[in-house]
Amino acid sequence: MNVNTKNNGHHAAPRCRFCQAELSHTFVDLGMSPLCESYLQAEQLNRMEPFYPLHVFVCDNCFLVQLEEFVSPEHIFSEYAYFSSYSDSWLDHCRRYTEHMVERFALNGQSLVVELASNDGYLLQYFVRSNIPVLGVEPAANVAKAAQEKNVPTLVRFFGQELAAELVAQGKQADLLIGNNVLAQVPDLCDFVAGMKLLLKPQGIITVEFPHLLRLINENQFDTIYHEHFSYFSFLTAERIFAAHGLRLFDVDELPTHGGSLRIYGCHADDSSETVTARVGDLLAREEAAGLNNIASYCSFAEQVHRTKRDLLGCLIHARAEGKSVVGYGAPGKGNTLLNYCGAGKDLIEYTVDRNPYKQGRFLPGTHIPIHHPDKIRETRPDYLLILPWNLKAEIMQQMSFVREWGGKFIVPIPKAMILD
Ligand SMILES: [Zn+2]
Repeated sequence: MNVNTKNNGHHAAPRCRFCQAELSHTFVDLGMSPLCESYLQAEQLNRMEPFYPLHVFVCDNCFLVQLEEFVSPEHIFSEYAYFSSYSDSWLDHCRRYTEHMVERFALNGQSLVVELASNDGYLLQYFVRSNIPVLGVEPAANVAKAAQEKNVPTLVRFFGQELAAELVAQGKQADLLIGNNVLAQVPDLCDFVAGMKLLLKPQGIITVEFPHLLRLINENQFDTIYHEHFSYFSFLTAERIFAAHGLRLFDVDELPTHGGSLRIYGCHADDSSETVTARVGDLLAREEAAGLNNIASYCSFAEQVHRTKRDLLGCLIHARAEGKSVVGYGAPGKGNTLLNYCGAGKDLIEYTVDRNPYKQGRFLPGTHIPIHHPDKIRETRPDYLLILPWNLKAEIMQQMSFVREWGGKFIVPIPKAMILD
């Protein structure tokens, strides 16, 4: 297995990925866990399965919440199975974003839009349709190929200062430089942001989207912590990181995606054409009110997570003690973080179901809970359905409303364990 070995075994206290301060504060320790996307086939069940620490630290100097790097990006991207274009609501979000950017920043046939981690061209395709030149950068060859088939020119490379310098030498700089859901997965954060600074035209605009740490804390979304996500950002920490690389944040949007995300807008620090909006001040004030500039507030998160584990296990054990059957709905990465942390295996949850054919017939990593086609639920008529992708609970409860025919109920684990009729 192609994993990074530099942190294996005993080692000195880890250092902050951004400011290099020693990391001595735990945000939450979720124990040892397998990689959340490593779904197993039947013949793998009796083999050794690698587990890595899911111990999240917070830096008391810059407040970057972070995991140590145990898994190299090469490993994550070698079997990257996530094609962005699979979700309709996501594509709709992308189309609206494109229209908004073209209008707000007056992009045209002379502009260049560059996206880092451009996946299968899910987003750049909309700029192509508006006749705006684009360039995608995507390290996973299989998804980059799908982008090229959509006429989205795509470089199969990892991004950093080296690639940025090469592009600049070829006369390529971005009017709009996009990074959606990539910053968390970058092990060398400073090299990546320094590369963005290089690649940006003097009057160019950066937009970056990432899940918002404030929402993760307030809504107890600890199951969105994965080995593949090295960093978790507040606006105030993101602002510091960009400022350290000569970039200024001037606007922010709050988005419903991934349980609550931010889209930050940046430009060169010496570009005075963009004024800072009131949204920036408002968000910073809310983050400060929530204590995100104070190490003590981060240290109370773990207790909230421990309580959730006790409540969820209490709920599952109570159901099983009464002779009721419990099955899962969905096999998302976040479900694997949750079930492995809680130690909830096949003795509590008989099986789960997922609509993704790739996952059907496989087993959840760590817990080895089997994954079936959703039809299995009509066959076995379980008493409880544990909804693992809780962010889609309204949609799932509607789709699965037929379980009420036999008195079936739903369990939602996050923000706290709840039984819903
Ligand atoms: Zn730091």
